[in-house]
Amino acid sequence: GSLRNASSFKASDLVIERNAACKPKPDPSTLVFGKQFSDHMLTINWSAKAGWEAPRIKPFQNLSLHPATSALHYSIELFEGMKAFRGVDNHIRMFRPMLNMARMHRSAERSSLPLFEKEELLECIKKLVEVDQEWVPFSQDASLYIRPTFIGTDPSLGVSHPSEAMIFVIVGPVGPYFSTGSFNPVSLLADPSFVRAWKGGVGAYKMGGNYGPTIAVQNEAVKRGCQQVLWLYGEQEEITEVGTMNLFIYWTNEKGEKELLTPPLDGIILPGVTRQSLLDLARTWGEFKVTERTMGMKELLGALDSGKILEVFGAGTACVVSPVGSLLYGEKVRVQLPPASNSRRQH
Ligand code: PMP
Repeated sequence: GSLRNASSFKASDLVIERNAACKPKPDPSTLVFGKQFSDHMLTINWSAKAGWEAPRIKPFQNLSLHPATSALHYSIELFEGMKAFRGVDNHIRMFRPMLNMARMHRSAERSSLPLFEKEELLECIKKLVEVDQEWVPFSQDASLYIRPTFIGTDPSLGVSHPSEAMIFVIVGPVGPYFSTGSFNPVSLLADPSFVRAWKGGVGAYKMGGNYGPTIAVQNEAVKRGCQQVLWLYGEQEEITEVGTMNLFIYWTNEKGEKELLTPPLDGIILPGVTRQSLLDLARTWGEFKVTERTMGMKELLGALDSGKILEVFGAGTACVVSPVGSLLYGEKVRVQLPPASNSRRQH
C-alpha cells in the first residue's frame, strides 16, 4: 500500500503532559459559542517519511507553522464538531461520536490527507475529555464542544498531496448557539443567487473551504433583517440546508399524510449526525412518514400558502434544533411560518 495508508497512530501510545496552570472555568450562563477553551489539546503529527507519531495531550497552546503551510494556502483542512454532555447521573457521554469519526475519515480521503483508524482517534479524544473532564459543564443547558481538526502542514507552495499533516483536537464549554436562545424561531434569507455547494463539489465533506465563503452571505442575510441563510440549489431552487444545519419540513404531503421531509444525501448536503439521529428516531416512532427527497421553493411556498406546512426546522450539533419562524424570498416576499408549538409532539 501507499504511505497514505500506512498504519494508524495508536491511542495506547498517548503521551500526556499535564497543564500545571489550569484556568478557572467560566460560569455556564455566560458562555459564548467557540470562545472558551479548556486546559489541554490533542495533537498527532504525520509525515510521509515517518508515518504517524505518537499522539500527545499537552497544555493548550498556539501552533507553530511554516508560512508556506499548505492548509493556509490551499485550504487542505477539515474539521468535525461534536459534543460531550454531563448527565444528571454525573456521567459524561459523547453523542454518537463514531458517526463523526466516519465523516472525518471520508473528509480526509477527499482531502488527500493521510488515513487513520477511527477507533484510535476516538480513544484519544475520549482521553482528552477525561483529562479536561472538569470542563464539561455541570449544567443541562451547556455541553463540551469538541473540535477535531486535520490540516496539511507541508512547508511547500506546490499544489500536491501533503507530505506532512497534523490532527489536532481542541475542546471548550458551550451554551446555546443563537443569542435568541436554543428553541426560539430563526428568520431565513432564501436568495437563489447564493450557492453553498454543487453537484460534483465537496459540500458533503466538512472542509474549512466550504465555510469561509459563506460568511459574506450570512452578513447579507443580517443586512436584510434575517438571522440565517436558507441555501437554495439549481433551477428548481431546491431547499438544501439552513446556515450550518440540515433542514427538516414537517407537513401534510400531497396524499394528505403527515410527513417529515429532509433533502437526500445527493452530494450537496452535509451528512449531519443530528439529521441521521432525527431520521432514526422518527422511523423508530413510526408515527408519520419519513422521507428523504428534494423540495423546490415553489413547492414549499405553495404548501405554505395552503397551510400544509406544520413546522420547518434546522438541525445540527451546535444549535441542536432550531425552528424556522420566517422566510425572506429574494428581496420582497416575507413569509411567516407556523409557530413550532402548534405541531410539536410530546415525547
Ligand atoms: N450542515 C452543515 C453545512 C454543517 O456544517 C453542519 C454542522 N456539522 C450540519 C449540517 C449539521 O451536522 P451535525 O448534525 O453533524 O452537526
